Amino acid sequence: MRILIVDDTATIREIASAHIVECGHVPMKASSGLEAIEILKKDIPEFIFMDVEMPGLDGFETTRQLREILKDDWIPIIFLTGLDSDEQYNKGIDSGGDDYLTKPINPIIFRAKIKAMERIIGMKNCLNQLNEQLARTSITDGLTGLTNRRGFEAHADKCWKQCQRDQNPVSLIMIDIDHFKLYNDNYGHQEGDSCLVEVSNAIQSRIKRPMDLAARYGGEEFVVILPNTELEDAKVITESIRQEIENLKIAHFNSTTSNYVTLSLGVSTCLNTAEHRLHDLIKCADKALYLSKEKGRNQVNGEVLKQRKKVMVIDDEEENLSLLSMVLENHFNVLLLQDAAHYLDEVHSYDPDLILLDIKMPSISGYDVCAGLRKDSKTRHIPIILVSSLDKTDVRQKSKKAGASGYIQKPVNDKQVLAKINSFLD
Ligand code: GH3
Ligand code: MG
Ligand code: MG
Ligand code: MG
Repeated sequence: MRILIVDDTATIREIASAHIVECGHVPMKASSGLEAIEILKKDIPEFIFMDVEMPGLDGFETTRQLREILKDDWIPIIFLTGLDSDEQYNKGIDSGGDDYLTKPINPIIFRAKIKAMERIIGMKNCLNQLNEQLARTSITDGLTGLTNRRGFEAHADKCWKQCQRDQNPVSLIMIDIDHFKLYNDNYGHQEGDSCLVEVSNAIQSRIKRPMDLAARYGGEEFVVILPNTELEDAKVITESIRQEIENLKIAHFNSTTSNYVTLSLGVSTCLNTAEHRLHDLIKCADKALYLSKEKGRNQVNGEVLKQRKKVMVIDDEEENLSLLSMVLENHFNVLLLQDAAHYLDEVHSYDPDLILLDIKMPSISGYDVCAGLRKDSKTRHIPIILVSSLDKTDVRQKSKKAGASGYIQKPVNDKQVLAKINSFLD
C-alpha cells in the first residue's frame, strides 16, 4: 500500500515512514496541507496519516478539502495529534477523518493501525471489484456476451450527447435474423441459441472503432450505434455485416429466402442531433429494417433522418398548451402560442407544417384565425386542426366553412392527436 503521511514536523514524517517501510508498505510524504492536496490530485494513496496542527491549512481543513476531491472514492484518513480531547475527536470525525492516534507515536499501536487499515482496504477493494462485476453483468447479455439493451441505451445516450456537442452525425443499424422462428422450429431452441451466438460474433467482428457498439436489442434483434458516421460509411458497415452472415453459410433449409441464415438490416443517420432525439433515429432504422423485410429480406435499406415537422399550437389556456406540448414534443418541433392576437405574424415567422387551433379564445375565435390564414397566400396551404370541447355537429359545419382541415374533440387523447396530425403530414 502507498501510505501518505502529512505532518509539518520532519522527525515525525521520518519516524512514521520508517514504520511504514517496516510494515512492507510505501511511504509518501507531505509537509503541509497544500502539499498533500497537490499530491492527491496526481496520485491517490491507499490511506493517509494526517497531522492536526499545522501552519496554514490544519489537518481538519485539509481533510475536508481532500474528501471533496476524492468525492465517492473513500480512503481512510487517520489523525495524528498531540491534542487528546473528546471535542477534538468529534471535530476530526466531522471533518471526514476515520480515526485518531495520539502523539508521540506508539510503534506498536501505529503498526497495529496499519494492519487494521490493510484489512479494511482489502475489503473495500473486494467490494469495488464485485460492484464493477455486477455493473458489467447487468449490462451484458447472458447468451451472446454482447451488451444488452439497457447497456446499449446508456452508451447510445452518451454518444448522442457527444455528437450533439461536436455537431457530428450519428448512424444506427437495426438487425433482425430472417425466419428465425422457423429455424427454432426446425433445429430446436438450443441450435437456435448457438446460431444467435454465431451471428453476434459475426456482427461484433465488423465493429472496429472504440465508440461503436453492437448490442442485443432483444430476441433475434441486434442494434449497432456508429457515432461520427455518415450514411454512406454506415451503409458499407451494414452491408459488410450482412455479407459476413451470408459467408458463414449457417444451414437454414426452411427459410424461404435462402438455404442459409440471412439478416435483414435497416440503417439510418441523423445529421442534426440538436433537432432530433435518439428514439427518432431508432424508429427510422426500424422503418428501414421493415422495408428490407418487405422487399424480400437478406438486404440493407437506409436513409437519412428527415427534418422534424413543425407544429404550432394556439390555445388561450396554459393547461391545454402544456398537455399538448407533452404529447407532441417527442415527435415534432413545437411552438406554443397562448395569445392569438398577432397570429398572422407568428405563423409567418415560424412557418409551421401544421397548426392545432383552439376554437374558444378571448381575443379572437379559432374560426376567425382559421379563415384569416386561409385568405393569406403564404399560409393558405397549412393544415389546420381545430381543437374544442364544443358539440361536434355544430363545430363540423362552422370549421368547414372557416377552411379547417380537421377537428379534434377535447379532452385530447395522445394517440388520436398523433394519428390525426400524421394523417396530414405524411
Ligand atoms: P422474420 O423474418 O419476419 O423476422 O421472421 P422471424 O421468424 O425471424 O420473426 P419472429 O418475430 O416471428 O420470430 C422470432 C423468433 O426468435 C421467435 C423466438 O422464439 C426466437 N427467439 C427469440 N429469442 C430467442 C433466444 O434467445 N433463443 C432462441 N433460440 N430463439 C429466440
Ligand atoms: Mg504539527
Ligand atoms: Mg426475425
Ligand atoms: Mg380556449
